[in-house]
Amino acid sequence: MPCSIDETRKILACYYMIESSIVHMIKSDKNSIEVNGRKRILVLGGGFSGIGVLKKLGNKFEHDSTIDISMVSKDNFFLFTPMLPEVVSGLIESRHIVTPVRAFCKRARFYEATIRSMDFQKRQVTISNRIDTKNEPTDWHDHILNYDYLVIALGGETNFFGMKDVKKYSYTMKSLGDAIVLRNHVIDMLEQVSIEQDGDLRKSLMTFVVVGGGFAGVETVGELNALVRDVVRDFYNDIDINDIRVVLVNATDKILPEVSNDLSKFTTQKLKESGIEIILENPVSSATSSTVKLKNGISIGTHTLIWAGGVTPEKIVKELKCELDKGGRIMVDGYLAVKGLDGVYALGDCASLIDKNTGRPYPPTAQNAVEQAKVVANNLISTIKGGNKVRFNYKSRGIMAQIGKRKGVGILFGMKTHGLLAWMIWRTYYLSHLPTLEKKLRVVLDWTIDLFFKPDITRLKIFTENQANTL
Ligand SMILES: Cc1cc2nc3c(=O)[nH]c(=O)nc-3n(C[C@H](O)[C@H](O)[C@H](O)COP(=O)(O)OP(=O)(O)OC[C@H]3O[C@@H](n4cnc5c(N)ncnc54)[C@H](O)[C@@H]3O)c2cc1C
Repeated sequence: MPCSIDETRKILACYYMIESSIVHMIKSDKNSIEVNGRKRILVLGGGFSGIGVLKKLGNKFEHDSTIDISMVSKDNFFLFTPMLPEVVSGLIESRHIVTPVRAFCKRARFYEATIRSMDFQKRQVTISNRIDTKNEPTDWHDHILNYDYLVIALGGETNFFGMKDVKKYSYTMKSLGDAIVLRNHVIDMLEQVSIEQDGDLRKSLMTFVVVGGGFAGVETVGELNALVRDVVRDFYNDIDINDIRVVLVNATDKILPEVSNDLSKFTTQKLKESGIEIILENPVSSATSSTVKLKNGISIGTHTLIWAGGVTPEKIVKELKCELDKGGRIMVDGYLAVKGLDGVYALGDCASLIDKNTGRPYPPTAQNAVEQAKVVANNLISTIKGGNKVRFNYKSRGIMAQIGKRKGVGILFGMKTHGLLAWMIWRTYYLSHLPTLEKKLRVVLDWTIDLFFKPDITRLKIFTENQANTL
């Protein structure tokens, strides 16, 4: 008797379940993880671009047992970076802007590990996972993954332009850990000011310097300024709010170079109105634990130097045996395929492609990473299943930044917007891109609660009681 469509679907679903539960992973030797008889797609990096590719491939190959998808990333979560500065100010709870990578692994394997090397000849990637042994040196285990198709989406790391002292003494704003550490440090500084009597020391403890006039620097200085001023007003009656110094330092003559001149000027003016000092055309030349020195000789006493001076590809990317641009990013063609390599794609902050609309390389933004992910996934699917490949030719619809409490700037569809409206658009836009309904609701709740209650100044000491007793 012929089956109905529903019955056929049920039988197929059953088949796929049994099929995917058959273990296709065999261990040929201790360190090599192999997959039998399937096309293997390996995605490296669980950021905007890697997760974007993974989601699309997961949807397309959900019931295709001939395809094996694996994802490797250092962290077992995806971090929504545009909201990171709000974790510093305490507006959003840290766990609300991260989503476990496994939530996107419909039928992909996930390995939380560090990528050590890539061998394009052998089509192999070596990864390393750490086995934590309490109070003993970390034990690293290496494994080899074979691939047929490789997606490199490893983002970038903070660029200190070779200044070792700056790297040593500054706080960074790249990871969730960075935001949590920075928030705790800022609150600690205010606690120390309340005790200290020495005038110079008090001054430097109350001075906060952010370096970098790009989005990360501007958004961080806006949120930091709001945090410090709000909590001093609400809780620290032994600190004069006029003694607080928040400084933004930038090497070039304007902040937010991606927006138009008048919007950049508007941003500068609004940041100044909220009490932030802005120093332009003056790069940082050196730093100690209590000072930061600028190129023109000015020295600022501070115990809080935050470095958001730019990104550069990870060392592992810079050392790849493929065509790289002069900054070390992987050169890709219009289809986002790595030049000269078969079946290898690169995208996001670690890839380099000239934007035909501007004549300049696509900037390292989440927006570009998300759009590139769609193209890479499409081109992979076309390569495997047949179909048309598409070129990446994205024209940004807009650019937005928040610059402190309830203020934003942006260009949307060619129109400039600023103030409360820009801030509301910023929130709605980014909220719509935050993965999962649960996290969206949690963030909306955080924003709502902030409207009615004072900020939380709990300083979390991130160590165990045992460790605390030895400090
Ligand atoms: C504070 C801040 C605010 C920002 N605000 C905005 C904004 O408002 N709008 C905007 O468009 N952009 C913004 N950006 C930029 C945006 O975050 C990046 O452009 C975007 O994340 C790039 O995506 P990606 O996938 O290329 O890299 P990432 O998102 O950085 O992902 C790279 C992934 O690779 C993993 N990885 C790296 N190396 C290894 C390794 N060796 N082994 C294993 N895993 C590895 C990382 O853990 C990470 O998961 C902001 C960035 C920061 C830091």
